[in-house]
Amino acid sequence: MTDGPFKPTPQSAAKDREKSPFSRYENYVLSAGKMVAEGRYQDAIRSLQDPEIPRRFGIGIREGRGLRLLSKPPSHEKLRGIRTRIALSSWFHIEQREIELGELSASPGVEVPEELWHDVALIYLHEWLHGLQLLTGGSLTDQADDEIDIGIYLINHGIPLTVNYIEMDGLEKFLDVKPE
Ligand SMILES: [Zn+2]
Repeated sequence: MTDGPFKPTPQSAAKDREKSPFSRYENYVLSAGKMVAEGRYQDAIRSLQDPEIPRRFGIGIREGRGLRLLSKPPSHEKLRGIRTRIALSSWFHIEQREIELGELSASPGVEVPEELWHDVALIYLHEWLHGLQLLTGGSLTDQADDEIDIGIYLINHGIPLTVNYIEMDGLEKFLDVKPE
């Protein structure tokens, strides 16, 4: 989500961005996306919490409201609620040029399901990609809606989405196969 009026203009941007001054930022996001594709969700999360690369582009990273899992195992419905709360604690603040990332942690002995780490990694990628939209001043795909734009970008780059992500951003109609 973003909290400002910024709306990207559609353009076939992928080719233009190859030599763009923002490719370092984009490559960093995509390397975290690759970790997600490999199932290394927590590595991706750690990588996306590192402020070094965004700082070079004048974008900050701030810790958002945290959520701590106290008991186990969370039911499917509860997982969904947790995912939603992390998403609502995560923002791209356009005016302040700041990525805010809601944190997930767990009490000792409580195992966080991989599915949930996957959701959190996607939320972080999503907010970073709002940063890329701002830097490039355009949409990342041919989509005018900035939320859908990010979903399609993730799909185009082979980054696996979760059912929660697909439902929350209404991406069903862009997928050939319905997720299980
Ligand atoms: Zn968003």
